[in-house]
Amino acid sequence: MRVDLHTHSNASDGALTPHAVAALAAERGLDGFALTDHDTLAGCRQLAAEPPPGIRFVPGVELSTVWSGVGIHIVGLDFDLDARVLNAGIARQTEARFARARRISEVLGKAGLDAPVEAITARAAGVPGRPHFAQHLVETGQVVDEAFVFKKWLGAGKPGDIKTGWAGLADVVDWIVDAGGRAVLAHPARYKLTRTKLRALVKAFTDSGGQAIEVVSGQQTPDITTGVARLARDFALEASVGSDFHRQGGHGHALGQPLTLPSECTPVWSNFDWRD
Ligand code: MN
Ligand code: MN
Ligand code: MN
Repeated sequence: MRVDLHTHSNASDGALTPHAVAALAAERGLDGFALTDHDTLAGCRQLAAEPPPGIRFVPGVELSTVWSGVGIHIVGLDFDLDARVLNAGIARQTEARFARARRISEVLGKAGLDAPVEAITARAAGVPGRPHFAQHLVETGQVVDEAFVFKKWLGAGKPGDIKTGWAGLADVVDWIVDAGGRAVLAHPARYKLTRTKLRALVKAFTDSGGQAIEVVSGQQTPDITTGVARLARDFALEASVGSDFHRQGGHGHALGQPLTLPSECTPVWSNFDWRD
């Protein structure tokens, strides 16, 4: 079964509508996918209301959290879209995203850049994210490329990397598990942690009730996949795969590329309650 369990639509910082992501996933020959927008279920609700033709899906979400001072992303998959605790938690995360957008706008203002929060939220069909700032600065000719914006102001540890307002790792895992879903530690290599600290993160995640880890993510190299597969084995975690697709030709991987798990891994999607 070819699946992609980490994708974004314009309900968060992706370019395509939820149904356009589904159509592209079907066109590229995937059997199933999950839309995992940042801190919102709006896109998944659109898919649930009008199931896309030609592809199966499960509800998904990518939740921002903080662990030990580091911003960590947890993907939730195959949960009850109406679960009360999860919805209350996500509502707070959505608010935190708007508050964060105001803070980022101020930070960039101090650096002499003009990124009014109204322009950013207007750009976001759903919740605002850092890529919306980068796109605004490029399109208004204030910087040459989006990567530069992340490198200088918005990336991990930079002044616009604002982590206040996010729930803790254990809380977010609780919300997903309470909603009957699988909690997945997203793109573990992306946090640039030392080996020791990464193991500590995976242990904290597992101790909190997290069930899976993204063994194959975006454009990572085969040696990273091998390392994460080893972590999955050591901590008895299921394995997920996801492109982190945001838009065609943009940040994140292309949709529909082969995302093949090492054979020793246990797929997180084995017992999914797919919708079609
Ligand atoms: Mn994103
Ligand atoms: Mn992420
Ligand atoms: Mn993502």
